[in-house]
Amino acid sequence: MDHLLSGLHQFHTQFGREKDFYSKLAGGQHPSVLFIGCSDSRVDPSIITQSGLGELFVMRNAGNIVPCYGASNGGEPATIEYAVSALGVTDIVVCGHSGCGAIQAMLNPDSMEKLPLVRGWLNHAEATRRIIVENYANLTGEDQLAAAVSEHVLVQIENLQTHPAVAVKLQRGEVTLHAWVYQMTSGEVWAYSSDDGKFTALTDLPPEEAGRRKVGNPRQAKRK
Ligand SMILES: [Zn+2]
Repeated sequence: MDHLLSGLHQFHTQFGREKDFYSKLAGGQHPSVLFIGCSDSRVDPSIITQSGLGELFVMRNAGNIVPCYGASNGGEPATIEYAVSALGVTDIVVCGHSGCGAIQAMLNPDSMEKLPLVRGWLNHAEATRRIIVENYANLTGEDQLAAAVSEHVLVQIENLQTHPAVAVKLQRGEVTLHAWVYQMTSGEVWAYSSDDGKFTALTDLPPEEAGRRKVGNPRQAKRK
């Protein structure tokens, strides 16, 4: 704990130096992005996106899971509704990561014998497990885990769209969905695009091209 306590002191000194900034922040938050990520201590949304205080509205849990609407009475549906309907975020990022322990556990349910609550939580990701078992039967080990992490992010993007607050904004074209995977060994973030159906490293692309890598909006497309 000692390093946390010295961190608090350091922060308080910085707070004193930038009082105007912090008093403006205290007046209210206006983040434009809901960032949904894993609780893993190595995947900090603000650090990997180099965002400051007030920029990201963050929801983290084991395995960056978005339960389908009506499937959970936990904080997730309330957090999503608040971000979209009250704060008016314009973008939602679901970010998985390489080497995710929750996804690994989900692929091996027997490993959770003594963790009944984790097992119950990961049941929300059963669609991912079935996709891997039935469509990626040729993969094992690291390759299987990598496929599961990517497919899992896309399943959570589908689950997001079952939330009424998100569905309404999608139909109006007022929110954009992003499916990302953070690669822990390279520091890259790979993003899915519906245009080519692939994940590509955002840092390999020119900014305008990287900005176009997003999940297509099926609801808006239907209206055209
Ligand atoms: Zn994880």
